[in-house]
Amino acid sequence: MGARTGTEFLEGLARLRPDVWVGSEKVADVLEHPAFSGAARTVAALFDLQHEAADDCLVPDPETGEPINASHLIPRSRADLEQRHRCMQRAAELTVGLMGRSPDYMNVTFAGFAARPDEWGANGNEEGAANLIAYQKLLRRRDLSLTHTIIHPTIDKSRGDFPGPDVALHKVADTAHGIVVRGARILATLAPFADELAVYPAHPLPDGADAHALAFCIPMDTPGLKFICRDSCSTPRNLFDHPLSSRFDEQDAFVIFDDVEVPRDRVFIGGNRAVYNQVMLTSWFPNVMQQTMIRAQTKLEFAWGLATRMTEAIGDFSPATTQMLGELWSYVEFARAAIRAAEADAFEWVPGVWFPRGEPLAALRAALPTWFPRVTEIITLVGSHNLLAAPTAAQLADPALAPFVDQYLRGAGDVSATARARIFRLAWDFVGSALAARGVLYERFYLASGARNYQVIHKIAPKERATALVDRFLNEDLGVDDTAAMAERAAARALR
Ligand SMILES: Cc1cc2nc3c(=O)[nH]c(=O)nc-3n(C[C@H](O)[C@H](O)[C@H](O)COP(=O)(O)OP(=O)(O)OC[C@H]3O[C@@H](n4cnc5c(N)ncnc54)[C@H](O)[C@@H]3O)c2cc1C
Repeated sequence: MGARTGTEFLEGLARLRPDVWVGSEKVADVLEHPAFSGAARTVAALFDLQHEAADDCLVPDPETGEPINASHLIPRSRADLEQRHRCMQRAAELTVGLMGRSPDYMNVTFAGFAARPDEWGANGNEEGAANLIAYQKLLRRRDLSLTHTIIHPTIDKSRGDFPGPDVALHKVADTAHGIVVRGARILATLAPFADELAVYPAHPLPDGADAHALAFCIPMDTPGLKFICRDSCSTPRNLFDHPLSSRFDEQDAFVIFDDVEVPRDRVFIGGNRAVYNQVMLTSWFPNVMQQTMIRAQTKLEFAWGLATRMTEAIGDFSPATTQMLGELWSYVEFARAAIRAAEADAFEWVPGVWFPRGEPLAALRAALPTWFPRVTEIITLVGSHNLLAAPTAAQLADPALAPFVDQYLRGAGDVSATARARIFRLAWDFVGSALAARGVLYERFYLASGARNYQVIHKIAPKERATALVDRFLNEDLGVDDTAAMAERAAARALR
């Protein structure tokens, strides 16, 4: 089949009947529900995009020759990474980076997994690794949309990351066809717009937790799967009033596994704790970070462009404001430079598999949870009350209001009231709406907090050069004169 169109994606979703809850109701039809219909169109547009931008987005499947999305590529060369970059940048531009879990995120993740049968097949897990490689072929050829859940729910943080055997997802039985799993996980972003759910490792499991060592993929409407969505941030479709909330609410869902049967050929890890605790530790991060950081860089650039337009609309060229715009631009460029460095220093991790170098991306990942709240703060400071003095499309069109709005709510120079309202409504949707608040939460916590990321990168960062720069002073031979002077001073102190 190969790369799907938006219509084919929507037809696939329409055939599914997942157990999805939002607000006070169980959702009968995801595509028709106001909480989901706007974002469903956007995800469909991402599927259409790969055909519209085929040069950047489509590559032949290495075995069948079918056109597949470049995010499914197992990178075999630097050129593959460059092609993948172009493809993912197109997707990020379509959502201005507001959909963190657009399907390319999981495509890249599974391409990275399939590239490492040496890791997935370790410790006797050859069958799991073979299942995973077969699944990645199916994923790319059927062009499925995946959601994923890798984190245990939080019950009592004083007991660590593992919430206990009754809550964390675990295997309860073997059947003729596979295994039965029970428990819960967080937080499946994109769930209502996914064909299948992926479960794979995150934090290492403690001793004795072998039953929790699971990785698999199953269709969203597998019996026993339940998705509890957070309150919707989606607004009714009105692209003037809510340019972002009406199309980019990708949703986040708590997942319950109420005795769910996973077919044997979909089990990638079924109790092998040694593999579970190891597979995420090497190349997964640098591989997937290429996608997430291209997305983040695009969002930063959007924010800088938006803030610039805001200042132009109200003629604010003050030094204080210009300084903040320069600060935004610096984040854009630091992000671009980190991605460029990681790609320039890409290397062959194992024979025939190329991934970026991880360090620049790890540093950027740890910094972004601080940068993004600051981006919101800057746009809020630049926007001030103007963020709330932005009439709706209906108000602008109302004959009773229009003459007043045109006069009193116009912008600087020849900026009309309509143009000004569009800019500040876009800005409010970016920093002040429910979608905006969720966006900041996402940037703070997706793939762990900044705090946790900083702690990890300090532990794994190569330290040879840094310590050598310091040790030069600590280990240098201070010579006879200096040593004698030290001894003299020590003796004088002893006599006092
Ligand atoms: C909007 C959103 C979307 C998400 N989407 C997905 C998804 O699609 N799939 C998925 O599987 N998960 C998803 N997640 C879940 C995400 O993976 C977790 O929220 C993330 O791992 C953070 O978990 P945590 O609360 O344990 O954070 P932590 O990293 O534990 O941070 C929580 C707090 O503890 C502090 N802290 C962290 N580490 C330490 C430490 N070692 N010592 C002291 N303090 C510490 C931090 O400063 C922070 O304030 C999503 C989360 C959000 C918010």
